[in-house]
Amino acid sequence: MSELLTVKAIRDAILEGSVTAEEVTKNCLAKIAAEDAKVGAFLEVFSDRALEKARAIDAMKASGETLPRLAGVPVAIKDNMLLAGEKASAGSNILRDYTSAYSATVVERLEAAGAIILGRANMDEFAMGSSTETSAFQKTHNPWDLERIPGGSSGGSAAAVAAGFVAAALGSDTGGSIRQPAAMCGIVGLKPTYGRVSRYGIVALASSLDQVGPFTHTVEDAMLVMEVIEGRDAHDATSTELTDKPVAELLEPTLKGLKVGVPKEYFIDGMDPEVRARVEEAIEVFKQQGAEIIEISLPLSPYALPTYYILQPAEASSNLARFDGMRYGTRAPGALEDSYLTARSEGFGLEVKRRIMLGSFILSAGYYDAFYKKSLAVRNALRKEFDEAFKQVDVILGPTTPGTAWKLGEKFDDPIAMYLADVFTTPANIAGLPGISLPCGFANNLPVGLQLQAKPFAEMTLYKAAAAYQAVTDWHTKIPQA
Ligand code: GLN
Repeated sequence: MSELLTVKAIRDAILEGSVTAEEVTKNCLAKIAAEDAKVGAFLEVFSDRALEKARAIDAMKASGETLPRLAGVPVAIKDNMLLAGEKASAGSNILRDYTSAYSATVVERLEAAGAIILGRANMDEFAMGSSTETSAFQKTHNPWDLERIPGGSSGGSAAAVAAGFVAAALGSDTGGSIRQPAAMCGIVGLKPTYGRVSRYGIVALASSLDQVGPFTHTVEDAMLVMEVIEGRDAHDATSTELTDKPVAELLEPTLKGLKVGVPKEYFIDGMDPEVRARVEEAIEVFKQQGAEIIEISLPLSPYALPTYYILQPAEASSNLARFDGMRYGTRAPGALEDSYLTARSEGFGLEVKRRIMLGSFILSAGYYDAFYKKSLAVRNALRKEFDEAFKQVDVILGPTTPGTAWKLGEKFDDPIAMYLADVFTTPANIAGLPGISLPCGFANNLPVGLQLQAKPFAEMTLYKAAAAYQAVTDWHTKIPQA
C-alpha cells in the first residue's frame, strides 16, 4: 500500500459508508500476511477476533446506530498490554504462556471506541531496551531499511504503523520507548504527561516513569487516540481527572507567538551532524511561522540519563519480583528454591537480568542512600529546572535522538552505547512531562525525529505546535517503499 493510512481518513470513510470496517480489516490483514514476515512487527495477529469486531461495526452502521469515535480503525497494541483472553508476554520467555484474565483500561477504551485490535506488537523484553532486539521471540526490522533496528522498546508498534499495517498503535514510554522508535521509523509518537493515561493492565516496568501513548502519522490522529484512552481510571490511583480534554476537531494549529526554548545541552558532541542539521532546519520553519526562538540552558540535562539508569532498574527489580513461576510466569520443576531459581534464570533474558541485579544492588542496605536517594534528589532538581524553564518558554525543542536507526546487532553487546540513545528522552519521564516526536526529515536516507516537550498537562500546546509544523511540512506523509 503506498497510501498514508490515517486514523481520520479511515474513520471518516467508514462513517460515510465508502468502505466497510470489514474491508479495511481484511486489507490490513492481507498486507500483514504478505509483508510482516520481513518486518517482524507482530508477535501475534488476532485475525478472527478482528474480523468479528469489524463486522459488528458494520452491523451497527447498517442499523443506523451512531458509530463511536474510532469505529473500524485498525490498531496494534504493544505486547505488554492485556487483552482479555489473549496472550500477553511482554516480549519475555517467562510469560510465553500467559493469557490475560482482563483487559488493560487503554485497550478496553480503544475497543469501546470501535477500534479494531489487529494484534500484539513485538517489544524489548519487559520494555528494557532501545532496539527491540531483547525480545525473546523475534527481531523487528525497520521498514525504512530492513537491516536496521526500528528503535525500542515499542519497536513492533512503531514498525507496524510505519509499514502501513495499522493506522495507529499503542506503545509505552518509560525512558523514551515511544518517542525514540517513532523518530527512527519516521512517525509521530506521544508520551503523555505522567498520570494522563491509565497504567492499569500494562505490565509494569518502572511505575513512577511508565506512560502509555500513541504512534500515528499525524498529530491529529494522535489526538484522536488520546481522546479515547486518556483520563481518570478508578483502577489507577495515579491517573488524573482531566478538566480540559483536547478535541481533535477543535484544534487550531499555530506557531504564532509561541515561545520555543532551544536548550544548548540538547545539541551534544558526538551527535550525528545530519540529525543536528535537520533539527536546525525545523527551527527555521518554526521561526518563519511566527514562533519566537529562545536559547535556553538546562544545565542538569546531562544528569538525566544516569538518574534514569538508577531509578528505572530499582523500580524494575521490585516490579519483576512477582515473575517467579509461582505468582506469575511459567512454573519450573523442583522444590521451592530450585523452582524459583530455574524459572527466573531460564525465563529472563540477559538485559532483564542485568537490570534486576543493578536494581537489587541499588536498593540494598548501604547503597540505597548513595544511589537511590541521591537520584531522587536529582529528580527533584530536574523537575525544578524544567519548572523554571517553562516560566520563560511554552515548549522545549530538540532532537529526539542523537542519531538515526543503527544496524541490527550493532549495539547489542554494548549496553552503554544502547543506553545513550535515551539521552534526550529520559528527562521527560523523570520530570513527568509530555513529549512528542515528529518526523522532520531524513539523514542518510533514514528518518529523523524532532522532539517537543511542554509542562505537565500542556498536551494542547504540543498538539498546536506540532500540528502547525505538519501543516507546512510533508515529512509525515513520506512512507517507506520497501
Ligand atoms: N531504552 C530505555 C530502557 O532501556 C527506555 C525503555 C522504555 O522507555 N521502556 O530502559
